[in-house]
Amino acid sequence: MPELPEVETVRQGLATWVAGRRIEQVEVRHPRAIRRHLPGDVHFAAVLAGRTVTGVSRRGKYLWLPLDSGDAIIAHLGMSGQLLMQPADAPDETHLRVRVAFADDGPELRFVDQRTFGGLSVSEGGAALPTEISHIARDPMDPLFDDEAFVAALRRKRTEVKRALLDQTLISGVGNIYADEALWRAGLHGARPTDALTGPAVRRLLGHVRDVLAEAIVAGGTSFDALYVNVNGESGYFDRALNAYGREGQPCHRCGTALRREQFMNRSSYSCPRCQPRPRKPLR
Ligand SMILES: [Zn+2]
Repeated sequence: MPELPEVETVRQGLATWVAGRRIEQVEVRHPRAIRRHLPGDVHFAAVLAGRTVTGVSRRGKYLWLPLDSGDAIIAHLGMSGQLLMQPADAPDETHLRVRVAFADDGPELRFVDQRTFGGLSVSEGGAALPTEISHIARDPMDPLFDDEAFVAALRRKRTEVKRALLDQTLISGVGNIYADEALWRAGLHGARPTDALTGPAVRRLLGHVRDVLAEAIVAGGTSFDALYVNVNGESGYFDRALNAYGREGQPCHRCGTALRREQFMNRSSYSCPRCQPRPRKPLR
């Protein structure tokens, strides 16, 4: 799944290309891509035609395009969804699902999705914050993210620290890759009980989360299977800067110990046995 840096990369590209443009016509090529839009494809195209995209917003891993009608287009990238800008005369992609053409002669917006887990929907009145997304916590790159409230909430929870980082109602945008990277930087094993962490330790961890997300945004995100691309179809290169994720058996960049892989929440977790010892007292 794309995490905050990959989605932010798409957001920045879209903001450059679609903000302020008026939609002329929407073509739904595959009904599954708009299955979350319950009124169906004819309604989807009708409510968008003639509307102007006023910006591109993001919270955590969620992206939406506010419209001058007060509604918003929500984009779910899923596993393989791509939002691409293409000249109108460019050949259709094999997995093109939705085409958005604008009233000017500029490039069109195409939603391309190989595995069709993603999709688009219209959120009525959702321009400022779609109700579909309102339960998601602010992400740590949001200027209104409340550091002290996060520190207190995490320490109150009786859970494991990696599980807390992945809890989108506590902090959004962090997934498996960036959680492992932040925990490696903080020297914390993901199974450490949150209620045993000190305030300064949680603040340090939050600082590492922010650093790793910021660095990954500059790199255009992490690309593992060539599906996470920006609006021009280009891959990010943060995979070259990873210290933990995907590095089982390779030397720790800090101490040289071979990194280990463990199963956690049905996913692989990567950590250094020496820098990130397992907790002596795991969560009971
Ligand atoms: Zn190490």
